[in-house]
Amino acid sequence: MNTEAKEPMKVQWLGNVVEIGAGRPVVVQSMTNTDTADVERSVAQVLELVRAGSELVRLTVNTPAAAKAIPEIRRRLDAAGCFVPLVGDFHYNGHKLLSEYPECAQALSKYRINPGNVGKGEKHAENFETMIRLALKYDKPIRIGVNWGSLDQDLLARMMSENQKLENPLSAKAVLREALVQSAVQSADAAVALGMKPSQIAISAKVSGVTDLIAVYRELKKRCGYILHLGLTEAGMGLKGTVSSTSALSVLLLEGIGDTIRVSLTPEPDQPRSAEVELACEILQALGMRSFTPQVVSCPGCGRTSSCLFQELAKQTQTYIKSRLPQWRKSYPGVENMTVAVMGCVVNGPGESRHANIGISLPGAGESPVSPVYMDGKKWGSLKGPTLSSDFHALLEDYVKR
Ligand code: SF4
Repeated sequence: MNTEAKEPMKVQWLGNVVEIGAGRPVVVQSMTNTDTADVERSVAQVLELVRAGSELVRLTVNTPAAAKAIPEIRRRLDAAGCFVPLVGDFHYNGHKLLSEYPECAQALSKYRINPGNVGKGEKHAENFETMIRLALKYDKPIRIGVNWGSLDQDLLARMMSENQKLENPLSAKAVLREALVQSAVQSADAAVALGMKPSQIAISAKVSGVTDLIAVYRELKKRCGYILHLGLTEAGMGLKGTVSSTSALSVLLLEGIGDTIRVSLTPEPDQPRSAEVELACEILQALGMRSFTPQVVSCPGCGRTSSCLFQELAKQTQTYIKSRLPQWRKSYPGVENMTVAVMGCVVNGPGESRHANIGISLPGAGESPVSPVYMDGKKWGSLKGPTLSSDFHALLEDYVKR
């Protein structure tokens, strides 16, 4: 089946249209972890995720209370001027909830369907068809979201049994990977057979191992032209989750695989939910695919660093940019592409600062106690003294305005 998405998927709410695939920039999305029925907390978290850069937000719709809450969440977001498209995450009872709560079906901008969780035996096809017909009725795109923690067990059992009959059977893991790919592609093909346009279907096949994810998505890219939603599932906490997600997504994105990404981090107790969005944005920006915020380039420091002043200035500059960015974005389009260097000594400080839009090189041990500032590759002058931080930020502010 020719499934090449020649036009992008349009996920929209009111005037806000998020286009995915067909060469559009990779879209960042995320998911809430509040009880969807708790409207207040869910709205607050959606707003937090959107402020961090999430362009789509998914919420679980697992109970009648959650389905009833969706239209109210939508209304409150609209009232707050936030038109981010909301994606409903359905498992087990999506066919019922979407049928019984039309306001929910209408307020959502996209449905996620997990073919491993739509029912067993004959019910599988019946429930799947119900959801696709509702997506067609309300004109909503879908994601076929397969996950190896909830793979279609009938399909897997059948494939395992066929594998045993082969002269050279594949490893259990290879069969599992193949089952993921087949489950995603066959389900998407079934949705097309029911009348959906290929461009209105995204697929994902998430696993928790980096090399498994890379292998599965390379295979998906070979086998179909559907829009691909990338994400390492259950990536874990802290450094492990960050490194695993970054490694897996970077390899695939650099191969041109992936139209939208979601980073799934288990938040540390003191970490906001938006950390996963910040990481997704950082990955895309580091790969040169999107620009979300001016980049602060700073060196690691070493034995030549005279004090921790340059680390403090780098941190203060990052915080300053974060606080000013919403205003800058409104007034100075393109500000996200800017680079600011904060360096620790004369070895790489002037050179790196010249490469940045604006940079400062603090004095290393034994160097003259002034900090040369560079703008657009040329030396502007020097700063020194106790007001150095605020003086540098005033220069930064002037630079942005210019
Ligand atoms: Fe060390 Fe200077 Fe290099 Fe920074 S720029 S890491 S202080 S040598």
